[in-house]
Amino acid sequence: MELTAESHSIPLSDGNSIPLIGLGTYADPQKTPKGTAYESVKIAIETGYRHIDGALIYYNEHEVGQAIRDKIADGTVKREDIFYCGKLWNTFHPPELVRPTLEKTLTTLQLDYVDLYIIELPMAFKPGDEFNPKDETGKWLYHETDLCATWEVECHPYFTQPKLLEYCRQNSIVIVGYSPLGTSRDPSWVNLKCPTMLEDDLLVSIAKKYNKTTAQVCLRFNVQRGVVVIPKSFSPARIKENFEIFDFSLSDADMKAVEGLNTNIRFVELLRWSDHPEYPFHDDF
Ligand code: NDP
Repeated sequence: MELTAESHSIPLSDGNSIPLIGLGTYADPQKTPKGTAYESVKIAIETGYRHIDGALIYYNEHEVGQAIRDKIADGTVKREDIFYCGKLWNTFHPPELVRPTLEKTLTTLQLDYVDLYIIELPMAFKPGDEFNPKDETGKWLYHETDLCATWEVECHPYFTQPKLLEYCRQNSIVIVGYSPLGTSRDPSWVNLKCPTMLEDDLLVSIAKKYNKTTAQVCLRFNVQRGVVVIPKSFSPARIKENFEIFDFSLSDADMKAVEGLNTNIRFVELLRWSDHPEYPFHDDF
């Protein structure tokens, strides 16, 4: 299948399809000026992005919804052109809370539907108004849950997920790879022992050969093997740069070389929750 800026969606088993590149929208709310997500989503839609990855816990879903609605209102896109992914946060896992929480997201976005709604993390926290519940000693308050849903997966050249990818291929499941550029390296939730992926010598040399940036090589690597990527950028230049991955393709040898970078290390380890009974990263996948 030829991937182009206008046509880069892949089919899902239910008859819908998902664009191979989406805009990630998480940024530390304390450090991000109000309106940044709004402007970035608008620029992304103007650039050609048709997939936006958001969440209630990102505290900017109202801006993301406003940007989507404004681009619909000015005629750039129709609602059905956009693929929006929302997420159920850890404190809303009890089945009776799922629907009202999704409805809260819809109210925040002021949209009638989302295209995908996923369990953000498979670890339930004590339900309630506090998103990060702890007891008076500072211990996290967990909650028991019955998990039977799909799981969104970190995926990039340092963590290529061959076993999971094979399983998903056999079962016609599409993977969405978060942190496809190696994250923002925010020390509060990222494992900074991992080297900075965008400075990797091999990726830098491949990028030079194609006259592209290392970020574009990382993104192209995943979309070329059918993995959806959701790079986050709130910089207009980089939002555009990350979308310019449909005018080149990596040779088989370069795809193999990038695959060879896999070290099975995660940027997003979430070690502060590693004592949660459902902590997912002890498993091989
Ligand atoms: P990414 O791998 O997308 O990296 C984002 C960082 O890279 C930002 O600091 C951004 O800065 C920078 N950047 C973006 N483009 C470029 C470029 N071309 N060259 C150099 N630097 C660049 O990390 P994230 O962890 O944010 O993952 C992406 C998205 O995935 C999130 O925003 C979120 O939507 C989703 N996610 C979901 C998770 C889940 O649990 N379900 C977990 C983690 C992420 P700048 O903005 O300044 O360009």
